[in-house]
Amino acid sequence: MTADPEEHPFVRTVREHAERVLRPAALRTDREGVSAEQIGELRTVGLLNHLAPAPYGGRGLDRDADRRIHELLAGACFNTWLVWAQHASLTGRLAESAAADRPLPDLARRALTGEVLLGAGISDVRSFPRRYIAATRTAGGWLFNGTISWVSGWGLSPALAVAAVEPASETVVTALVEVGERTRPAAPLHLAAVAGSRTERIVLDDVFVPAEHVLSQRTLERTRFEDLALASDARGHHFGLAETVLRELRETPDPSVRAVAETWRPRVSRIRRTAYALADEAAEAGGGTHRLAERLATKVASGEALATLTRALVIARAGRGLAGDDTAQLHARSALFVLVQGQSADVRQAHLAHLADRQESR
Ligand SMILES: Cc1cc2nc3c(=O)[nH]c(=O)nc-3n(C[C@H](O)[C@H](O)[C@H](O)COP(=O)(O)OP(=O)(O)OC[C@H]3O[C@@H](n4cnc5c(N)ncnc54)[C@H](O)[C@@H]3O)c2cc1C
Repeated sequence: MTADPEEHPFVRTVREHAERVLRPAALRTDREGVSAEQIGELRTVGLLNHLAPAPYGGRGLDRDADRRIHELLAGACFNTWLVWAQHASLTGRLAESAAADRPLPDLARRALTGEVLLGAGISDVRSFPRRYIAATRTAGGWLFNGTISWVSGWGLSPALAVAAVEPASETVVTALVEVGERTRPAAPLHLAAVAGSRTERIVLDDVFVPAEHVLSQRTLERTRFEDLALASDARGHHFGLAETVLRELRETPDPSVRAVAETWRPRVSRIRRTAYALADEAAEAGGGTHRLAERLATKVASGEALATLTRALVIARAGRGLAGDDTAQLHARSALFVLVQGQSADVRQAHLAHLADRQESR
């Protein structure tokens, strides 16, 4: 039997921080952006290296406890979660390299101790060859060129993990790239959701990447296979956001609003259980396309549940739900983001097919 993640001391610390610090500031953070001070507080809590191996200060969490942390942070402040999640997933990956006794560059070691917050520019590999960062071999390393479509937490990280492609060999080179003169924002984005996540489009202008900063070199085929595992499942942040919206519905005195929460709470629990069980099963089976149709259907169900629940909150709050100081509009916009985040061609197709099907059956 696995331990209850709620009982883990670190999970309790994170919950306390999320409730006391992040949740009350969520509307302001969406307006003004995640601050360096907030990141400093996450560092103090231990959230910038919780997945690191013990010598780097890691907390030795299991998968359930880590998922619970994602839920708690996303439920309290979606913008902060988005910035933090880029770093957290990268430190998980660096931890794997450290565990395999591969020599780590100094920058990676500083990320693993939580001293350095990493940003990520990895999603453009999904759209190769339509759009991607080009990697070209040069003496002592690589040159990276192109525009990264999305980097959350810009201005808060001294370095990014970037996935670039060498087109001729279809090799995906993932490397740490220091932010400097040759990395700059392109035209400003005017985001309709997660506006406080400091997300920018970033131009890499002939950036030299020393060989020691390369984290991995994989075939495009292998990368796409691994991405299926990342993009195909409903994950912790979906359920953290749903938990918050259910809570706000339940806290409303109007019984017709509470009835929505009562109907949807068990449905969301079921989707969550299924999503986690399928993701675990897929991981054990080596990832890739294992029970892909069911996993995609579960992700679609989770996106639909969030769309419905956040809409219910807007309806419940009436006109105020659309005012900037009401959390209903914040959660509804966060749910929009969930619908496109980590979108692969399969995810997009599955969701659109589901919606088209529903229209036909009316
Ligand atoms: C606000 C925001 C912040 C983000 N932050 C980060 C970050 O910090 N780091 C990071 O690495 N990523 C980040 N992302 C990327 C996020 O994961 C991507 O949104 C996701 O990968 C989808 O990519 P895309 O939106 O660029 O869409 P696209 O690349 O345009 O398309 C998505 C998928 O749909 C398919 N597709 C597109 N158009 C069609 C079509 N007409 N017909 C058939 N298939 C099609 C593509 O093949 C692709 O697989 C962020 C995204 C957003 C919106």
